[in-house]
Amino acid sequence: MKSIKSSGGAACPGGCEPFEAEFWALIGADEDENLKQALLGGELNLVQCPECGRFFYHDRNIIYFDPPAQLLAFVAPNADKKDFEKVTTKMRADFKLLKENLPGMKIDYEPFFLRGLEELKAMLDYEAKISEQSEVIAAFAAQQGFKLAPLRRATARVKGWPFYIPVAVADYNKETALKASKEVLAQNPAMGLLAAFIKDISAGTPLPPRI
Ligand SMILES: [Zn+2]
Repeated sequence: MKSIKSSGGAACPGGCEPFEAEFWALIGADEDENLKQALLGGELNLVQCPECGRFFYHDRNIIYFDPPAQLLAFVAPNADKKDFEKVTTKMRADFKLLKENLPGMKIDYEPFFLRGLEELKAMLDYEAKISEQSEVIAAFAAQQGFKLAPLRRATARVKGWPFYIPVAVADYNKETALKASKEVLAQNPAMGLLAAFIKDISAGTPLPPRI
């Protein structure tokens, strides 16, 4: 997804004269790793007041989109915190438009509606945590001769599961998935996402379709 820049009035917190400044309105995270890094580093949409020289965030609506990861977030300016319900209604309408305009993207998952860049950063930190733990699971699974079954990312992230789970054989069913997952977890009990997966599936949550 291509990132999109926009422009609008920026209001310096020092009370100076508002000025026009560019900002990133859509971050296509799959194509713009540098923008994602700028966001994580706290440099995204940072502008400088021409009058007093102060740096501040150009607090605007941002869309964060990573189609291969099935990750979509609508971020409202931090200033809109009080009216978040109203703002969310507007963001839902934006989501509907985006979906209609990008039919090829197959956006069949729910977006996140967030308040400010801090919440977006927290979401990305959690995403990195899932990815890291999924890699650990993959490494242990390979050591024990298991195969990996990728789970739907949009589902795994919301359920608190890893992005892939070990399976005993090429067969993917509740029994083989649970057996392999338990054996891998026994090697490293710190894999909390895998433990959550085992707990949920054992308790009767249907096994998600393999992708
Ligand atoms: Zn200023």
